[in-house]
Amino acid sequence: MAVALKMTDLYVPTLKEDPAEAEIASHRLLLRAGMIRKAAVGIYTFLPLGWRSLHKIEQIVREEMDGIGSQEMLMPAVQPAELWHESGRWSDYGPELMRLQDRHGREFCLGPTHEEIITATVRHELRSYRELPVSLYQIQVKFRDEVRPRFGLLRGREFIMKDAYSFHATQESLQEHYDAMAGAYGRICERLGLRYRPVEADSGQIGGKVTTEFMALADNGEAELVYCDCGWAANVEAARTAVPRNPTTIEPVSMEKVHTPGLRTIADLASAFDVTEHDTVKTMAGKTPEGRLVFFCVPGDRELNAMKADAAVPGVVLLEEDDFESFDIPKGSLGPVNPPAGALVIGDESLRLTVAWTVGANIDDYHFFGAMPGRDFEIGLWSDLVIAEPGDGCPICNAALKGARGIEVSQVFQLGTKYSESMGATYADEDGNERPFIMGCYGVGVSRSLAAVIEQHNDENGIAWPVAVAPLEVAVVPLTVGDDVVWPVAETIWRALAAAGIETVIDDRDERAGVKFADADLIGWPFQVVVGKRGVADGVIEVKVRATGERETIPVNEAATRISVLLEQARSALA
Ligand code: ATP
Ligand code: MG
Repeated sequence: MAVALKMTDLYVPTLKEDPAEAEIASHRLLLRAGMIRKAAVGIYTFLPLGWRSLHKIEQIVREEMDGIGSQEMLMPAVQPAELWHESGRWSDYGPELMRLQDRHGREFCLGPTHEEIITATVRHELRSYRELPVSLYQIQVKFRDEVRPRFGLLRGREFIMKDAYSFHATQESLQEHYDAMAGAYGRICERLGLRYRPVEADSGQIGGKVTTEFMALADNGEAELVYCDCGWAANVEAARTAVPRNPTTIEPVSMEKVHTPGLRTIADLASAFDVTEHDTVKTMAGKTPEGRLVFFCVPGDRELNAMKADAAVPGVVLLEEDDFESFDIPKGSLGPVNPPAGALVIGDESLRLTVAWTVGANIDDYHFFGAMPGRDFEIGLWSDLVIAEPGDGCPICNAALKGARGIEVSQVFQLGTKYSESMGATYADEDGNERPFIMGCYGVGVSRSLAAVIEQHNDENGIAWPVAVAPLEVAVVPLTVGDDVVWPVAETIWRALAAAGIETVIDDRDERAGVKFADADLIGWPFQVVVGKRGVADGVIEVKVRATGERETIPVNEAATRISVLLEQARSALA
């Protein structure tokens, strides 16, 4: 017997009005459909229906993890600072890490992720190459004091993640498990009914080099992607693309110093001199942790990618307002010609073939036109520096890239030995030599996935769940309750459905039909069985498919069988 619930027993506080704080569909509908409530910024309670859907996502994730031989466990959310000192992340993680002290003044954090704990757990006990590989996972609450918590479950400060960690003796073994994880992550997206794309990504905070993000495509997604018909795709943060340059036909000219009073931005400069922004060069200033000045030169119409800047000069940060004064450089007129002594000048790869540069003169209100690299200035380092954009060349086939937005629902990383080395986690190889584990880590945003599903499956009336994630599969909606015509028919169907293993709710509220229909569409029950007086008189009921709006009239005595068939079709379409 599957779940058979009554609407009057369910705690589903639906809202008639759109909550003012919700900017996007998933946040609005999770609140309106009575699935979550806010406790504090970025921190939510899951009400019964939200919890049911969340459980379904967890179960799908669990099945896919178990299917590739990862084993479930549970680590603590509260983690001792010592482990984070060992890995170096107590300082690297910054203010996003939620820190606390116990009554003895000992320091702890609330885990934003669990590399430290897992590494400390297996070191000294996972000892031999013969025991490798090992893959472990948990479904756990995570804490990150995000700069901008928003969009409900999409970017919370407390959220639920499935995180897995694997330990290997060889790179080949890691690669094999990484590929299996990526396969499982793709299947998870499919089973959740998500349209998605795996993309090349940057590993950011976690460390490691090889990494793929799984992006649920959504116009409201925070991530920007570029992709190519050849199959390549990347997060713009990470994309190494070929930025197009106008083929330069300019003959070497002499450099001209031009008075540009008040022209502080590229847009000002371009419009005053009737050139395109693309034909100018923008110089951004940063400083290294040691305090060395760095100039980044990028095409005037492009943005500097902070991650790429950091890759070129580890630890570099862009200058703050005060820094311009202390370095004594004019913010609105920076350029590579005559830079301050000791400054490192880095040019974006795409500028290599540009003969004549329009650049700031490092003197207030002056620019140079026709400055030539090698003649008028030197570039100390060429590096890929800009944020990729649609239209850039695909790094595989050079076709023009297209753009999309996405929600990062999951990510797989090859960590290498970052944690095993810093934390002294080694195993004995065949010859008895101690070697650091080669590690991988893999995360699925479980609560974020719930929001992503709604983001892709909703309309003006509410949520239109894929069956696999719906809080319940079928709602029986009698238009009258407690009478002896409609109610007994509805109740019989409700019980028959439950007996057939279908999760069913009956709307036994004494409400108007309009209210019931509106709630059913808002909550998004995948199948709605409408039982009314007129239909029953003709011996029929009506089934509405929420996702498509299709309706089917079915004889009362065939109702349960037919709905089972419809549901089986819907389930297997996703499984
Ligand atoms: P983002 O770039 O969106 O901040 P991340 O790359 O820092 O995410 P990971 O460390 O890769 O996140 O965590 C694994 C997964 O956990 C992510 O793919 C995402 O689905 C989920 N996740 C991360 N941060 C949050 C958050 N603040 N709220 C909800 N889910 C999150
Ligand atoms: Mg990530």
